[in-house]
Amino acid sequence: MQGMNEGVSRRNFLGLSAGAALACCVGRARAARFGREADATWFEWTQLSPRCWVAIGEGGNVLVVAGDREAIVIDAKNAGFGNTLRREAEQVSGKPVKTLINTHHHGDHTGGNCSFTKDCTVMAHENALARIASQGERLMGGAKGAAAQVGKSEKPAKDAVLKDIAALDGAGLTKDSWTPANGLGDSEKLTIGGVAIELTHVGNGHTDNDLIIVIPAEKVMHGGDLLFNKVWPVIDLPGGSDTAGWVKGCERILELCGEQQMIVVPGHGAVGDREMAQRQRQMLIALRAQAAAAVKAGQSREDFLKRPFEEYAEYQRADVLKPRTLGGVYDEAAKAAGK
Ligand SMILES: [Zn+2]
Repeated sequence: MQGMNEGVSRRNFLGLSAGAALACCVGRARAARFGREADATWFEWTQLSPRCWVAIGEGGNVLVVAGDREAIVIDAKNAGFGNTLRREAEQVSGKPVKTLINTHHHGDHTGGNCSFTKDCTVMAHENALARIASQGERLMGGAKGAAAQVGKSEKPAKDAVLKDIAALDGAGLTKDSWTPANGLGDSEKLTIGGVAIELTHVGNGHTDNDLIIVIPAEKVMHGGDLLFNKVWPVIDLPGGSDTAGWVKGCERILELCGEQQMIVVPGHGAVGDREMAQRQRQMLIALRAQAAAAVKAGQSREDFLKRPFEEYAEYQRADVLKPRTLGGVYDEAAKAAGK
């Protein structure tokens, strides 16, 4: 691990917030250089290992992996932010991006695809392709909202981002510009730019096309939206959500982590370790049981959604996401009970 006291750094990193971890994880010399880059970027970038960085902000968390002569980007953020993501990924990794992999079809992970499909290899699980194709029209409209949102910001990187968004107008995009050309099976081992990458699809979980992506040499994993770290998890039944399968997905993540100190990037929330998967699994099991009991006792959906669930009081985005999580588990339980 390139003589940066990696063992100690990694132990220090695990369990800390991404921001707090930056100084100890990256190593002093690197942190000083990286810190300056971070000041000028739109996304919040943190180096996780010698070859891996995470970008937080504007949709799902993105993992960037530096290969020998090229970079790999995992997920593409909200519509409108693809050019910025690509530019900053190349800046932090020092390599041109040649490959994009989507963890699943949701727009907050694929909105920037159009900035990669022309000249990069773009991949997703085979079940994701038709779903991404069907949302192209909506993603085309998304960039306009992004410009309005960025326009209100005071961040130093704002002008560069507005230029990135404006460049999308002249890029000749069509609704098909978001769709990956390459569909992946349920278990793939690829080597891209000299980096081994393992991709696993466990079946329906958060959607019907989730990929768990592991970079074994870096001990880094992207769990996609099978992992919401202390954020209310989105249940999308039309998109293939199945919370029983999702529990299995968490168990596979735990297996893939093994006893190693794997750095785990969730789809949403702070970077952490395998404990995050354990917590996600337990939450889903508990919510499933409570929804089933509520349906059995004849409690209405409306009343189930009013329950406080104080054990998750610290979970973020409760205003928007909590009703979707609870509504999702209730609807699943009602269907299972034949109601
Ligand atoms: Zn999602």
